[in-house]
Amino acid sequence: MIISENNVVSLSYDLRLATGKIIDKATAEDPLAYIHGVGMLLPHFEAQLHEKTVGYKFDFTLTPENGYGERYDENLVEFPKSMFLEGGFPEIDITVGNFVPMNDSDGNQLQGKITEVTAESVKVDLNHPLAGESLHFVGEVIAVRPASEEELAHGHVHGEGGHHHH
Ligand SMILES: [Zn+2]
Repeated sequence: MIISENNVVSLSYDLRLATGKIIDKATAEDPLAYIHGVGMLLPHFEAQLHEKTVGYKFDFTLTPENGYGERYDENLVEFPKSMFLEGGFPEIDITVGNFVPMNDSDGNQLQGKITEVTAESVKVDLNHPLAGESLHFVGEVIAVRPASEEELAHGHVHGEGGHHHH
């Protein structure tokens, strides 16, 4: 079967940064499964697999532009410390390296990483953790099958590589 829209694709892969560090992987025994063409994965990632089939071995690098975007200094935002202490997140430890739930300008939820804490302010990095990174994927297409009506309605894969309970 050829990979096209609304197929469930199972993959093994390693994801490396430019440094060579592996930051994510799936094996043939425990593959990643996704529904092709519905926006589950990065569009440029899915484009690399479009119209390929089982056994296809891939090895490609996505630029930051084709991955999670560039890093922008504007996404380093300083907030008054009082906002965290009084307002929102008493359960969160305001410490460099910890994450706080935030919303971006489009209202999407994201995890901001605390990069600096002073007596008065907290600086939070709202860039995606993989912004500015080149993403090197090496892997293989393990299986391709049509998605079920139920999977398409739910927007996720059931069974192997997907959701088992919900
Ligand atoms: Zn479901």
